[in-house]
Amino acid sequence: MMNPSFLEQNLFELESKSLRRHWRMVQSPQSKEIILDGKRVLNFCSNNYLGLADDERIKQAALEAVRQDGFGSGASRLVCGTLSAHVKLEEKLARLKNTESALVFSSGYMANTGIIPALFGRDDVILSDRLNHASIVDGILLSRAKLKRYAHKDMQDLEDALKNSGSFKKRLIVTDTIFSMDGDTTPLQKIVDLARRYEAWVMVDEAHAFGVLGEHGAGLVEEENLGDHIDIQMGTLSKAAGCFGAYAAGSKSLCDYLTNHSRSFIYTTAMPPACAAAASVAVDIIAQDKERRHRLLFNADYLRRGLQALGFDTMQSATPIIPIVVKDSVKALEASRRLLEQGIFVQAIRPPTVPVNTARLRVTVMATHTEEDLDLFLDCIQKI
Ligand SMILES: *Cc1c(COP(=O)(O)O)cnc(C)c1O
Repeated sequence: MMNPSFLEQNLFELESKSLRRHWRMVQSPQSKEIILDGKRVLNFCSNNYLGLADDERIKQAALEAVRQDGFGSGASRLVCGTLSAHVKLEEKLARLKNTESALVFSSGYMANTGIIPALFGRDDVILSDRLNHASIVDGILLSRAKLKRYAHKDMQDLEDALKNSGSFKKRLIVTDTIFSMDGDTTPLQKIVDLARRYEAWVMVDEAHAFGVLGEHGAGLVEEENLGDHIDIQMGTLSKAAGCFGAYAAGSKSLCDYLTNHSRSFIYTTAMPPACAAAASVAVDIIAQDKERRHRLLFNADYLRRGLQALGFDTMQSATPIIPIVVKDSVKALEASRRLLEQGIFVQAIRPPTVPVNTARLRVTVMATHTEEDLDLFLDCIQKI
């Protein structure tokens, strides 16, 4: 038997460093206002940027799919779980991403831990931005490729690593396009230039950029018109799209290869058809509703400027993710608690999710916040 004091000791240590984590229960749909522990609060911490998680059209699509296709998908994709809803979603994603093909995974975590080990192994090296999402790091660890983390967005550091990578068979540069805790964007053109010079593959994770950046909401790759130079475009349907699931987009041969080799695609039950049908509608809304995206970016700009005018450090944020650096974990928790007292929900983000001594409030803006909501936020944060 395991010694129970091992668990208690660890939890006690976390608690004493203000690093113990707890969840809170939400008792309402995921929206700009939620009911949290029985209290109505303004939500400034979801990734539901466009407010689609409780959109009528998406709810309706899911309900119709349940009526028509039932709920469970019954099997993994390669056995008999590929339903028309999955195929339709993949076609829509490929069209929006302007790629030959797209392949749907059950979550972003599963996409990253499935794509990377399918393509890279012991003889390869993977160059990964130090602030990349944990699922990318886990995918690299699973692949057994050599992991080299380069300093955040530091192109000199990346180039030095590429220069020293001659002994490896394949090289991959992998990066988030919007960084989830800092809200800044990657210098993608420079990465593409370096990849060409040093014959490296490029993979991007557009989790926070899908639906947010680009003329049609396809992400930073669309915004910078670099689709022809990116080998693997991964993104999620769980953030701005307000649904669940993820995709890999790229050449037809890439998607066929992943269908044959990606273990998190092969050895898991297919996404329920209602999720796929809902995501299809979300993709349509993202492609067509530019107004909603403009509103989101306008709101982000408004709040960021307001915070900067009050003297807060918002790092290099240029997106709807706005960090307010507090440094100390205890102070970050205290700030979050005091905002909640005033009806504003913002999470404190602490190590190990962010580097030591950079604890922060992570504010996320939504397209559905009104100017009054944003002014109220600025008012409250000023008071604490
Ligand atoms: C959220 C996130 C993921 C994981 O996606 P899920 O669909 O939530 O599993 C992967 N990468 C990045 C950058 C993310 O922010």
